[in-house]
Amino acid sequence: MTPVARSAIALAAAWFFGVGTGVNVTGARGGLDAGQSENARTADSGDLEVLELRPNFFMIAGAGGHIGVQVGDDGVVVVDTGSTAAAGAVVAAIKKITSRPIRYVINTSADPDHVGGNETVAKAGQSLFTSADFLGGAASILSAEKVLARMGAPTGQTSPFPVAAWPTETFDHPRKYMYLNGEGIEILHQPAAHTDGDVLVFFRRSDVVVAGDILDTTRFPVIDVAKGGTIQGEIAALNRLVELAIPSVPIVSREAGTLVIPGHGRVCDQLDALEYRDMVTIIRDRVRDLIKAGRTLDQIKAASPARGYTRRYGSDSGPWTTNNFVEAVYQSLVQDKP
Ligand SMILES: [Zn+2]
Repeated sequence: MTPVARSAIALAAAWFFGVGTGVNVTGARGGLDAGQSENARTADSGDLEVLELRPNFFMIAGAGGHIGVQVGDDGVVVVDTGSTAAAGAVVAAIKKITSRPIRYVINTSADPDHVGGNETVAKAGQSLFTSADFLGGAASILSAEKVLARMGAPTGQTSPFPVAAWPTETFDHPRKYMYLNGEGIEILHQPAAHTDGDVLVFFRRSDVVVAGDILDTTRFPVIDVAKGGTIQGEIAALNRLVELAIPSVPIVSREAGTLVIPGHGRVCDQLDALEYRDMVTIIRDRVRDLIKAGRTLDQIKAASPARGYTRRYGSDSGPWTTNNFVEAVYQSLVQDKP
């Protein structure tokens, strides 16, 4: 995050309030630390942070992946729903923001920390469509078609999610759009980035992009090769994000510009996304050069292609280590060979 973005968000975040039972009224730096405090908390504590990014746009942190909440006359559009354990607290947080009904849930991928609250959040809402009675009147759940494929049950197996959590509306083309609460909402499919079902959700008047796990400022991007993720698609998605966002130029002192909500970590601006894209690209290039030089995966790992970035993004343990990332880059590039 640049100093400019830091203070811009501090201004935007001048008003915080606590939600749920674990009321957490944060100070002026609360929003900036949202990602870090998220990591330190358990998702089921009900201890969420709500950050007002724009007059009608909020971010909820601490429920798993970050959640975007757009509010207006049409009701509430929610991007991602956090983990299942935190779902009740997420609904309480949204109710505290507004009494208007939740109309839409949009999922940025099929990851459990982004779709886990789908059933509870959708059922707390009310569809815009009277014909949705067959859905019990719950809010619509919108995603790329691949998300439904990931959440549904393969033949003969049990689905990892209840049917009520599955997307009710899917699309399989590059751009889906809606016009709700006085602004255009673009849902841009990034077909092979973190997974094959990722989307960037761009709220055009609010000037906020919800990026999901395409952007994760707490670590190297999670390229889930088994679920259709690739390093090439990840870089393409980050390029798209950089193109969508506009920084505060030429009058830098205004501290304005597009806000980008990452899947995890700090709220970003265009420069943050650009720096992250450059970091990922540099590491991809190093791995590619080592492959061209005939090195094996083990030799490539030993050559530390992520050097210079491991202190900020790397990890030697946990679910996504530096070696996991290097291996995913390698697998993507090897797969890509004719
Ligand atoms: Zn995530």
